[in-house]
Amino acid sequence: MRTEIRFIAAVCVLLTAMSCACAGVLEVHAIDVGQGDAFLVRFPEGRIMLVDAGPEDAASSLVRYIERRGVGEIDILAATHPHEDHIGGMKAILGAFRTGKVWDSGFALGSRTQKEFLADVGRRGIRFGTPKAGFEEVVDGVRIRVVAPVRELRGTESDANNNSLVLHIAYGAVSFLLTGDMQKEERRSVGTFPNATVLKVAHHGSRDGTDASFLNQVRPQYAVIPYGYGNPYGHPKAGVLELLRKNGVQTATTADDGNVVFRTDGTSLSVTMSRESNSLVDELLYLFRKLTGWF
Ligand SMILES: [Zn+2]
Repeated sequence: MRTEIRFIAAVCVLLTAMSCACAGVLEVHAIDVGQGDAFLVRFPEGRIMLVDAGPEDAASSLVRYIERRGVGEIDILAATHPHEDHIGGMKAILGAFRTGKVWDSGFALGSRTQKEFLADVGRRGIRFGTPKAGFEEVVDGVRIRVVAPVRELRGTESDANNNSLVLHIAYGAVSFLLTGDMQKEERRSVGTFPNATVLKVAHHGSRDGTDASFLNQVRPQYAVIPYGYGNPYGHPKAGVLELLRKNGVQTATTADDGNVVFRTDGTSLSVTMSRESNSLVDELLYLFRKLTGWF
């Protein structure tokens, strides 16, 4: 009998951990997908949003990360823009999770990855929208507001980046700004940005993704930069890291810190970081990089 109780208690603890013991808590996970973005948002009553799905080569580990959190269904799947490091994993995500609706930037890049993603969404009959600046939706008491795109921008340094879907997610006094790979042209088109407690640094910490005036508007306390070691672009740039430091912003990166998870009840905010390697080889490579600083 006692064993049975212990077993039931253990199952309860496990289920609670899997399904999140956090009624009333908003979680935002910056998932380590190497060079790319993937943000899992768990709303206070359990609804789920995934913002970007990383590159294709990280898709299976991304699916495993989400499954391990007891997620079976994604309510909102957002694609900030059609570059491979943001939508390469969409095929695997759509295959693994029943998806309620898709929010897309609406920018047609014409790449094979994007065409396949859009075709897959259509084939599955998933609701599809391209919300623009000013659009709002409240999910489990959390207000999601589209900050950009304001309008379609053409002739910029990267039109795909400069039409990124930028989302402000606010729960009580705590808020997040997810910026995709927005560059200066899109930043200028917005005008004034709202304050946010946590900033997803745009474009993997590239020089064109952040400037002093933008940080002055957003005034974040925390920042997270998703990027992969040894990326060919030199992300993140030292000048951006310095700017964040000078502004007193505590900064985490997925390359150094692994998965970065923010939890808030709308008043206080906690941040935890964890590496969740899928193989011993990954873990040894990580330790090797940390010890040697090599690639
Ligand atoms: Zn990117």
